[in-house]
Amino acid sequence: MSHTLTICPQCKSLNKVLIEKAITNQALCGKCQKNLTLHGLVTEVNTEDFRRILKASDKPVVVDFWATWCGPCKSYGPEYQKASTQNTNAVFLKISTETEQELSAELGIRGIPCTILFKSGKEVARQAGAMSADQVKQFVNSVN
Ligand SMILES: [Zn+2]
Repeated sequence: MSHTLTICPQCKSLNKVLIEKAITNQALCGKCQKNLTLHGLVTEVNTEDFRRILKASDKPVVVDFWATWCGPCKSYGPEYQKASTQNTNAVFLKISTETEQELSAELGIRGIPCTILFKSGKEVARQAGAMSADQVKQFVNSVN
């Protein structure tokens, strides 16, 4: 059985959930029993929760940096979400560059959408611009 990592929106607990449950929106928080709100297998996180997942994950972590005002980000969102359900070998996150400005600056993000792949807590690849679900798959599997 394969798992992914997510943060409970209610109590902020780090949850390890079964892929099958997460995809069908049946995953509950192990601590407070609240429904975990994943989109496909994508979790929207802030900087603190991003760092917690990065530290805890034994899988690669992929992050879509986006903003509400960004047109290409909107069309990329559903493709990224689709890719998350097809690549269960990685943990998929989404971070707003509007609310998480410090992290975005720290990572040197200039244009969005920007997709970054982390392995063992370190950046190993990044791709600027929107991608198709297939391109995301190639990107996630580009570094071994
Ligand atoms: Zn909870």
